[in-house]
Amino acid sequence: MHLTAKNQVDETKANGFFSEEELTRSGVVEKHNVILTTNKECSFKCVMCDLWQNTLDYRVENGVITKQVKGALDELPKAKHIKLYNAGSFFDRQSIPKQDTFDIADMLCDYETLIVEAHPKLIGAPCFEFSEYLQPQLEVAMGLETVDPSVLPQLNKNMTLDDFERSTTRLLEHNIFVRAFILLRTPWQTEEEGVYWAKESIDFAHSIGVECCTVIPTRPNEGMGDFEPPLRKSLVEVVAYGKSKNKGRVFGDSWDEV
Ligand code: SF4
Repeated sequence: MHLTAKNQVDETKANGFFSEEELTRSGVVEKHNVILTTNKECSFKCVMCDLWQNTLDYRVENGVITKQVKGALDELPKAKHIKLYNAGSFFDRQSIPKQDTFDIADMLCDYETLIVEAHPKLIGAPCFEFSEYLQPQLEVAMGLETVDPSVLPQLNKNMTLDDFERSTTRLLEHNIFVRAFILLRTPWQTEEEGVYWAKESIDFAHSIGVECCTVIPTRPNEGMGDFEPPLRKSLVEVVAYGKSKNKGRVFGDSWDEV
């Protein structure tokens, strides 16, 4: 139960779609199509996550998400890379039914890369089976959030660093690429602590083989009191730090101010 009402969303169409330029693993900036699907709310309900605002309270019927993706693909330009983000986990069958994941794969044969998001605890046989079936290279983005030991347990993420590392290792063993989402400043960190722990989180991700990190400034969410979002200069500092390590791509997600 949320304190505020959700936005009205329509299951007959994707919640959003657009194109953006992004640096690829091979070092060139290329167009990535992005589709935000409309589906059931994620069951994890992490403290800092406001993605529930654009979700449904029920699981959609088989075929609904496939139609959403088809509708968006029809309008999107040609691109080599595509992100399918579902405000949760792509392998959560309550969010995206199993048959839809394969029907969607059939529509993406011309792409080189597919990036989806998933909670580390949902990395397993369904993910590996999907990757085997999929024509494009699969990349899975998982929320590492923070390695701050006093904060991670408070996020209600239901995940330890061991869980994250184990899932990363299994993905890499199956030739699936990994992207880590890292929070910049959580509700229990000062600005300085937020910067420190975001840098530590990048180092941890690199140390376990993650090639791509996206640093996300935490946004105020219900239940976070008078939380102040981090400063823009902190994001610039953390991203510059990550890039200086030369261990992979590091992005800063500046939400609307890209
Ligand atoms: S697992 Fe991800 S999508 Fe689900 S509530 Fe947590 S941060 Fe949000």
